Amino acid sequence: MNSIDEFLGRKPSKRSLRRIKDKDLYETVEEVFDTETLLALYEIMRRGIVSKVYGVISSGKEARIYWAKDRKGGDLALKIYLTMTAEFRKSIWKYIYGDPRFEGMSPRNIKQLIYLWTRKEFRNLKRLYEAGVRVPKPIFVYKNILVMEFIGKNGIRAPLLKEVYRDLDLDTHKRIFNKVIEYIARAYHLANLVHADLSEYNIMVYDSEPVIIDVSQAVHIAHMNALEFLRRDISNIVRFFKYEVRLNIPSEEEVYKEVMEWKLKEGMKEEEKE
Ligand code: ATP
Ligand code: MN
Repeated sequence: MNSIDEFLGRKPSKRSLRRIKDKDLYETVEEVFDTETLLALYEIMRRGIVSKVYGVISSGKEARIYWAKDRKGGDLALKIYLTMTAEFRKSIWKYIYGDPRFEGMSPRNIKQLIYLWTRKEFRNLKRLYEAGVRVPKPIFVYKNILVMEFIGKNGIRAPLLKEVYRDLDLDTHKRIFNKVIEYIARAYHLANLVHADLSEYNIMVYDSEPVIIDVSQAVHIAHMNALEFLRRDISNIVRFFKYEVRLNIPSEEEVYKEVMEWKLKEGMKEEEKE
């Protein structure tokens, strides 16, 4: 039996946690995580999905992003949901309520809600990935930990669009804008999802290409507010490229129409080819 199994078979106490010898994990995360998160992390390591956890990349209000390694030394990103303030629970409920996939869920149990929210992000990533939207490839989900592709190099994350847009040339901006609109349309028509928090803060730029992140709140198009969220996403993107980047692009209304008719256009392209 290896030490992690021994550890998992034991009733964990703060003292026994301190005795874990795994330096790679110990040094980074020991102080930060509660017992249950630490146990979940060990389980993911025991299953061979993650082998090392390095430093924190981003420390948000509800979740932290860590740089980690798989068994072959490849980079990974872990998104670990740690807390849910009453305010956050209230604010996310509108993204869960009315989604046919989450019927019968109760928001009462906070731990269950965090696990649900983590799983929701994983499932959304998977659907988007399969629809050809460039998102971090989802790898594994367990309790409050989401394992995904690391967007960046050598442990340095790629910049957000907000952070890097001043350094990009016009052609790159045009391409990024067109790709983002295509991804909104792919998400809507092929994954049946609306991101619902899309902006220059949730788009990373990796090798001059946009990568869409932070999809936990994305809703099914059957959600009663789906179209309102879609309009808001489009409005954020158009506003950013029009007024901050100062790119000459169509109006919000035209882009909305383009997104709605995207499937038709793709169908016509197929016909043209024949
Ligand atoms: P925030 O409240 O800051 O938006 P969040 O909890 O919503 O944080 P994300 O937006 O998913 O979490 O991620 C936070 C930050 O971590 C991102 O802005 C990005 O810089 C970085 N990040 C997220 N996912 C990855 C990834 N797969 N690879 C590398 N960096 C990532
Ligand atoms: Mn974010």
